[in-house]
Amino acid sequence: MKSIHTYPFEGKRALIRVDFNVPLDKKTLTVTDNTRIRAAAPTILHVLEKGGSVVLMSHLGRPKQGPEDRFSLKHIISEIEKVLEKQVKFASDCIGKEAFEMSENLSPGEILLLENVRFYKQETMGDETFSKQLAKHGDCFINDAFGTAHRAHASTTVVAKFFPNDKMFGFLIENEIKAVDKVLNSKEKPRTAIVGGAKVSSKITIIKRLLERVDHLIVGGGMAYTFVKAQEGNVGNSLVEDDYLEMANQILKEAKEKSVNILIPVDTVIADVFSNDANTQIVPITEIPDEWMGLDVGPKTIQMCDEILTQSKVILWNGPMGVFEMEKFQSGTLEIARSIVRATEKGAFSLVGGGDSVAAINMFGFADKVSYVSTGGGAMLEYLEGKELPGIKAIKE
Ligand code: AMP
Repeated sequence: MKSIHTYPFEGKRALIRVDFNVPLDKKTLTVTDNTRIRAAAPTILHVLEKGGSVVLMSHLGRPKQGPEDRFSLKHIISEIEKVLEKQVKFASDCIGKEAFEMSENLSPGEILLLENVRFYKQETMGDETFSKQLAKHGDCFINDAFGTAHRAHASTTVVAKFFPNDKMFGFLIENEIKAVDKVLNSKEKPRTAIVGGAKVSSKITIIKRLLERVDHLIVGGGMAYTFVKAQEGNVGNSLVEDDYLEMANQILKEAKEKSVNILIPVDTVIADVFSNDANTQIVPITEIPDEWMGLDVGPKTIQMCDEILTQSKVILWNGPMGVFEMEKFQSGTLEIARSIVRATEKGAFSLVGGGDSVAAINMFGFADKVSYVSTGGGAMLEYLEGKELPGIKAIKE
């Protein structure tokens, strides 16, 4: 494995796997959120500054059978040009004569974007012949697509084997790995993890792993009600996974044995229907009337979380505290975000990672007020679970 910091790019073509799977406006097919393009910019610009040229490959959406206009990367060319302030050439196929000619003829300082790699089914199959073709575009390979590092696809993983001595991580992946490792292996205390979101089942491995590494574990969101029911509270119509009641109790027991302070919400905002127009009340979380459901944490819980968070030195936040997409049930998530921002201002290292808490922190406009916001949803979850991500392994081995 080589390092992007020291690699001699001069006169070389760098094939870079980026994650340009960005949201597009359904009608105009223009980019509605360019976060992922901005996130890849430092790596691209570094290669150019060092005298190399760049061939970008990415997927966009989930095309089913071959090329589909709405998934063409041509729709994002102008956004990439805007972010990089450079011209971008486009190959309307990711392999084939024309594409190879274009990459061969690149001059230092030039950028070529290849068409969506998922227009070939061989991409998701991790096909070797296809990977070898992709590899022809570069003298070296940089993986900077953390968001797809958990996939053993041709352009994310298999292609790396054709660059045994010229493969490396981009700055984005490097930073993602550094941020999670800092949280998981930090010696500073207290360390607090907030795990929210919809279901216990999707976060169970992470929770178990975090019990080994944190002092406080705050449980929020829909999954809290499974814990409350497991402790024989009345949860009314709240989201509950009955298959996980025993598991919830086991986690509580394990936390006690490991002296981890696990905070289950004490009060909750309940609603009579799942809607922003619902009637609402605040009640103790163990006393939710039949027909009502808990959709956010209440003010006492928010206060308790704040006390823990503002004295924490390391914070990991994964998953919202309530149904933050609806304004009536947003307070818990918003206030947690505020507490994390305050803790960060006091010097804590805070990482927001995985799916909807990232959406929430962006929505509140706090993304630059925490230490690190991860760009990789599923990949971040799997990394936190302790799995070895194929895209990362392929570069390291
Ligand atoms: P996840 O992808 O597992 O992090 O779950 C995120 C989703 O959980 C968001 O769309 C939230 O609206 C949802 N969520 C959070 N709290 C609740 C709740 N109390 N009841 C139902 N869904 C919830």
